[in-house]
Amino acid sequence: MEPKRTTVRDLRRHNRSTLLSKLFFDGPLSRHELSQLTGLSAATVSNVTAELVEDRLIVEAGLVESDGGRPRVLLRVDPQYAHVVGIDVGETGVKVELFDLAMTRLAAADLQLNSVEPDPAEVVARTAEGLRQVIEAADVTESSVLGVGIGVPGTVEKGTRTLVHAQTIGWDAVPLPSMLRDQGIRLPLFLDNGAKTQGQAEMWFGAGRGARHAVIVLVGSGVGAAVITDGQTYAGYSSSAGEWGHTTIVYGGRQCRCGARGCLEAYIGAEGILDRYRKARGGRGTVDADEQAALAALVAAADTSKIAAKVLDDTAGYVGAGIANLVNLFNPERIVIGGWAGLAMGEQWLEGVKKATAEHALRHPYEQTSIDLCKLGPDAVAVGAATLPVAALLDAGGDPRESTRSVA
Ligand SMILES: [Zn+2]
Repeated sequence: MEPKRTTVRDLRRHNRSTLLSKLFFDGPLSRHELSQLTGLSAATVSNVTAELVEDRLIVEAGLVESDGGRPRVLLRVDPQYAHVVGIDVGETGVKVELFDLAMTRLAAADLQLNSVEPDPAEVVARTAEGLRQVIEAADVTESSVLGVGIGVPGTVEKGTRTLVHAQTIGWDAVPLPSMLRDQGIRLPLFLDNGAKTQGQAEMWFGAGRGARHAVIVLVGSGVGAAVITDGQTYAGYSSSAGEWGHTTIVYGGRQCRCGARGCLEAYIGAEGILDRYRKARGGRGTVDADEQAALAALVAAADTSKIAAKVLDDTAGYVGAGIANLVNLFNPERIVIGGWAGLAMGEQWLEGVKKATAEHALRHPYEQTSIDLCKLGPDAVAVGAATLPVAALLDAGGDPRESTRSVA
């Protein structure tokens, strides 16, 4: 194999990427600060920022006093340079949100799915509809949209064709991007697993910020995790790593939607929690057909009902045991719990999770980790999906529409 040579073009791209990323995450900053923070020379910072200003990617953002000398000009990424869209494809609905480059939400649309198991054709139709709605509501042009990130409830296999595998909802190699193309969507598309996009949102803007080793778990209708090791999301051979929900917590236990028995998801996924509640009440269910309303009713009932309180306590126990496995396997410095069901059970329930984790994890790695709730709330999957085209921009040090990183 030929050794990889660094060309002048590589170096230029690297420098643009470094400075653009620094300004995106920590701006506004002066050229002087950029040089100090990145280790690039003052001359390089001056040349590269001049290019980025000319490309309209960054703009001046006021002045800051410098000790003794002239005031320094602050720079930041221009929020108006482009827009990005983040889409959370859930099991009961599709959430579509449009942001500027400062990640300010300009428009949002929530579309319900009617099919019990989300039908790919319905998901594609609602996604296309939501996309048109947010572009119109935010009053922006389609050409200003840098890309559309989509978080899906399954594994995303990136080959010549991008395919989604979601065994629990009956999706077997669904070519979601090409189905969206058939609906007339021409924008660059970026797909990833929803637990992983939630993970990226929390790492960039939420409870994971600053950590190098973290696990962000998602507890919703489905259960998953983003494992961040040394700042990178661990993907595995074909991007299916992080299927925490289908790790076995009880040998020969409850039937899981994936076909196996005793998976964590069969106990702590919304359906698993509600089914355990129903069984504990001798088969009487909550009246709500809607999972989110039913779980909210269970949480409310826990104040007065011993049965409801016990179901939530057991849930905290299962979650804690599952997190202890993550602590022992990955030695994270931080664990963040998100997902609508996890958030609905709330802070009080979190204490039970911590206690159960302490009981099941090895003492030394447990003492080095913290466990908190996700900061961005149930929107984190959509926000994280919107970071996918932003990541392509930062990585390329310029407009990713000029490269071919989005999926077919
Ligand atoms: Zn399973």
